[in-house]
Amino acid sequence: MRAGTYNGSCHCGSCVWTAEITDPEHILCHCDTCRKLGGGPYSMNQIIHKDQLRILTGQPRVYTYTGASGNPVHCYFCPTCTSHIYHHQAVMGDRIIIRTILLDGGQRMQPGGEIFAEGKLGWVDALRETLEKKS
Ligand SMILES: [Zn+2]
Ligand SMILES: [Zn+2]
Repeated sequence: MRAGTYNGSCHCGSCVWTAEITDPEHILCHCDTCRKLGGGPYSMNQIIHKDQLRILTGQPRVYTYTGASGNPVHCYFCPTCTSHIYHHQAVMGDRIIIRTILLDGGQRMQPGGEIFAEGKLGWVDALRETLEKKS
């Protein structure tokens, strides 16, 4: 994953943004919350300063829940298609967590680390092997 400015968009296209990534540290999160919110086995994240995110079109809505630390976590998503654009944990101050898979080129970003590894689904690592055997 390279530093640079990436274009992002939600599924329906009403929310469009740019994210400037200066310190690439692409993190996979295996926590239950990411699974519930995203509907997938894990989420793909990058922490940036809030000023590095520019919402160009659309008005994300916010959903707030109480994180494991006891502090609020605000999740910003497209009100039409529900794509999760970024999250802000109150404990993180000016830094936010963006979902890299919604960025153009996000599918080619290699992960740099994983968190909540204890929640990792057992078949995630085995998936590649399984697919190769079937093909
Ligand atoms: Zn949308
Ligand atoms: Zn998570």
